[in-house]
Amino acid sequence: MAIPDTVSTDNLECSLLSNPTDNTRTHQTAMKAEEDHFHFTWYSWCQKFHMSRCISLLALHILAFFGPMLVPWHKKTVAFTWAYGNAQAYGITAGYHRLWSHRSYNASRPLQYLLAIVGASAVQRDIEWWCYQHRAHHRFTDTELDPYNALRGFWHSHIGWLLLRAPRRRRELVDIEDLRKNPVVQWQRRNYFLLALTFGVIIPGIIPYWCWNESVGSCVVFAIACRMCVVYHTTWAVNSFSHWLGKASYDDKHTPRDNFVVALLTHGEGYHNFHHEFPMDYRNAVEWYQYDPTKWFIWICQKLGLASHLKVALDNEIKKSRLSMYLKTLRLIQDKITWPPTPKDLPVVDWNNFRAQSLERPLIVIAGFIHDVSEFIDQHPGGSNVLLQNVGRDVTTAFFGGVYDHSNAAHNLLSMMRVGVLRQGVEPHKEMVVTPCRQRLMIKECNETSVQGDTK
Ligand SMILES: [Zn+2]
Ligand SMILES: [Zn+2]
Repeated sequence: MAIPDTVSTDNLECSLLSNPTDNTRTHQTAMKAEEDHFHFTWYSWCQKFHMSRCISLLALHILAFFGPMLVPWHKKTVAFTWAYGNAQAYGITAGYHRLWSHRSYNASRPLQYLLAIVGASAVQRDIEWWCYQHRAHHRFTDTELDPYNALRGFWHSHIGWLLLRAPRRRRELVDIEDLRKNPVVQWQRRNYFLLALTFGVIIPGIIPYWCWNESVGSCVVFAIACRMCVVYHTTWAVNSFSHWLGKASYDDKHTPRDNFVVALLTHGEGYHNFHHEFPMDYRNAVEWYQYDPTKWFIWICQKLGLASHLKVALDNEIKKSRLSMYLKTLRLIQDKITWPPTPKDLPVVDWNNFRAQSLERPLIVIAGFIHDVSEFIDQHPGGSNVLLQNVGRDVTTAFFGGVYDHSNAAHNLLSMMRVGVLRQGVEPHKEMVVTPCRQRLMIKECNETSVQGDTK
């Protein structure tokens, strides 16, 4: 049931090239050209796909889907399958992913061997191959060089990438030199087939048979096929669902998202937005209430003396990333609000002109702006007389506390009644002093700030 080892990493050149950017572009262009020139024939179709992988995965899924309807089963077998599947998942999450792909902590030799064996039992290929793909995914996220490029669609990132033959030239750009020097990784690679067969197939298949006389059919269907299928799909869900659904809590430039459901299914791997932002952090979830048992497992290993040097991102940098997303959200809210006209949108009127026009309609001056209060007179909470008595006058002092220190809402409402700017009403360098706090809180984008600076 193992995924056939049809792609070798023996011929990889793993050094970082002298000009990675140029090479990345060249590779992407070449891959795009190859895609464009693909002509469909049965031969080319077979060449494009890993046929042995397609067949073995199809057989596994048929067995896992129809098998439970055809064989008898005991609750003990289902419980054992669930427990074994959960335990082996740590080989992938704590081992393949956080230890070897990202070096987010150091593991003692016994823990490394344990994780290498447990990881092999998940039958997802050897550590070196798995980490190579994953490092490429992080380095080239959402590009043609990303093995599970989410922009190619949900099914491609979930399972399609496994069925397609990956272009070999992609491999030259990812550094796995540390894994090639790691004796445990190389030991697992040399013995992968035996380890996967023993701990992924034989042992889980034989335990229910020996311990509670489960039938051979049920052992194969539940303890082997169903378990492998579920572990495969939960692992793949990180590449598909977590790049499709969820919240961009730290960065929205790329597709990774924080997805609680995937975190539940994958022992904490679903907080993928954080993970892509801070991949060297041994945690995927940083909040106390978030579900990340892999993080707890690593922490316990540290307490037991099996792990050390747990890496965490600086709290200050985490807060910055989160703040940038808060500001983006606030900016979206801000853009949906109607704001008052700015001075450059209004006519400049001198004092005499203002006085003359006040005879025709109720105008008042506050903070250098001329306001038409005709539609507000009857709604003024302090009574209409207060406004009527001050028509044609500058009532800045009264508005700002001389008579009543008006609320933020009053400032906002007033600003919507602007019809002009009083010439020399406010000296330019004092503008900030009288600008309502609401206006000073407006979030500006870089280009807007520079334009504002140029104007000054
Ligand atoms: Zn990802
Ligand atoms: Zn990762």
